[in-house]
Formats: sequence, C-alpha cells, structure tokens
Amino acid sequence: MELTSSITQVTVPARQGRAVRVRAGDLVRVSTPRGAQVGDLFAFVSGDLTEHLSASHTRGHVNRLFPEVGEQFVTTRRRPVLTLVEDTSPGRHDMLIPACDPERYRQLGHTGQHASCAENLTTALRELGIGITTVPQPVNVFMDIRAAPNGELEWRSSPAAAGAAVTFRAELDCVVVVSACPQDLVGINGTETGPLLIEIGTAP
Ligand SMILES: [Zn+2]
Repeated sequence: MELTSSITQVTVPARQGRAVRVRAGDLVRVSTPRGAQVGDLFAFVSGDLTEHLSASHTRGHVNRLFPEVGEQFVTTRRRPVLTLVEDTSPGRHDMLIPACDPERYRQLGHTGQHASCAENLTTALRELGIGITTVPQPVNVFMDIRAAPNGELEWRSSPAAAGAAVTFRAELDCVVVVSACPQDLVGINGTETGPLLIEIGTAP
C-alpha cells in the first residue's frame, strides 16, 4: 500500500520512544528496519487524553487475543481509534503484555538505570507538552506471545523480517506513541535492540 505523497517520517531510535500527532484518515505505518524489534504502541484521543486505545476493550470488541488485518482498535469509551489495514510481517502482535517499566527490570535482576517503554511513553508525551498519570496497556507490534490451551503464555523472539511493517488508519484525531522496546533480558527482540520507523501518510 502506497502512502500518500505527503509523508512524515519519524525515526524511533533504539531503546527510545516518539510521539506523533495524526488526524482522522491518516495512515500510520510502523516498521522494523533491522527486523525483530518489538514496538509498544499507544494512542490517545486528541482533546481528551483520558480516552485512549485500550487493549482489553479491543479484545472484547474483536473477540480475539491478538490483532488481525481489518480489525479496529477501540478506546476506553469503545470508539474505534485505529484500524489495522496492512501487515507485511508474519502477523504476530501482542495485546496481553504490559509495557516494561523500571520495576520489571529490577525484578529481572537488573541493577541501575534501564530504559523502559513506560518511561519512553511519558518522555515522548512530555515533549509534546502532555502529561499522563497512568500507562495504558499497549499494542505490542511485532511481539510474538503465544497463549497455550491451558492458559500459559510463551514469549518468543519476534519473527518480523527486516523492513516488515504494520499500517494503521486513524479513525480519530489522536496522538500515537511508539516505543522501541529496550527489553534485552527476555528474548522477545532480535539479538540486539534496534530502531523503529514511523511514517505518516496525510489524509487528503
Ligand atoms: Zn518494553
């Protein structure tokens, strides 16, 4: 799918996050240039940041655990905010696992500072002058979590090849945040953490 001629590109450096403002009708593409890099994706509705993409409301809305092309992601008010319109990856994305945060790394045995998606989210929003008090459950693009019939979860390394991309259509004006997950203690990313690329095709 070609984005329109007016394209904004934002690189999300490895282990960091970036926030972008999008308008209803815009296409938002997130890709993993080096492959196998998980991205935590959040969306907050412009004008009322207390309404945001909710993975749990989305699971109930679509009757699935994980995203599929054609499906909508809904907000805490059950309004569609994004639609997944194209996926060139193997289609493994997660809606179960929360954003990593400093406590997660402490519990994994890390001492000292460690980047996290929760802090990347608040930092990226702060650069737009936005403050938040809670970290929503993200949609974790390119993250391969499997749910076994007995309910157990299996964390696998991302199968996304270099250049794999997911493309969303914005259904509401919103702020989209993408964090290049810095998880390097659990093997969800490739052999090393890498960057992500956000491309926005502006609606005519
Ligand atoms: Zn993370």
